[in-house]
Amino acid sequence: MSSSVHRGIGMTSQRTRERLIQRLRDEGIQNQTVLEVVRNTPRHIFVDEALASRAYEDTALPIGQGQTISQPFIVARMTELLLEGGPLETVLEVGTGSGYQTAILSKLVKRVYSVERIKSLQLAARKRFQELHLRNIRLHHRDGGMGLPEYAPFDGILVTAAPEGIPRALVDQLKLGGRMILPIGSRSEQVLVRVTRTKNGYDKELLEQVVFVPLLGGTL
Ligand code: SAM
Repeated sequence: MSSSVHRGIGMTSQRTRERLIQRLRDEGIQNQTVLEVVRNTPRHIFVDEALASRAYEDTALPIGQGQTISQPFIVARMTELLLEGGPLETVLEVGTGSGYQTAILSKLVKRVYSVERIKSLQLAARKRFQELHLRNIRLHHRDGGMGLPEYAPFDGILVTAAPEGIPRALVDQLKLGGRMILPIGSRSEQVLVRVTRTKNGYDKELLEQVVFVPLLGGTL
């Protein structure tokens, strides 16, 4: 790892990371592999240097452009839910943001495709993946609500911004038996949903209440 990867991180880093892992366990994260990957992924490089000292708090933080890096609990929870039915090879993420969730996924599956509508966020994320030598990530700048039909079907899809309903285009890009984890709802009220692709359409399970930025559609 280059020295820039370590920027902003003090001697207390290991302790604060361990505290975060304990907190995630206390909050109900059970998948040991996911906890291990969170422990080994340096969240401080996914935020601005001025916020690095808060990177191991279990909280969302601003990343510019009115967007946020998701709370570690929700990243771990969505990842755990996505993996629940067994290992996955290809995953599409909608909403690259800082790239933190993408980096976590990249250590758990063969290939991650991630789509972001804000170019500057995508470029910053790309730089971080290079610093961390994460080579199984493919980034695309476009409206993620339409997915990536040219690379479909996917074993899993994870959406990190909230549409008002389940985007049909994304369901159509899941393999049979494939699953998608996404928040749906209005700005004030959202619920996490797991969608499983079936022969005749899809099954939907409503999970817990969450808060995400909205999935924006239309022009970039
Ligand atoms: N997974 C991210 C992380 O760990 O940093 C969190 C991302 S943030 C909560 C949601 C992201 O979704 C933002 O970067 C936003 O620009 C992006 N987004 C919103 N609507 C989108 C769309 N239609 N297509 C692609 N990206 C979108």
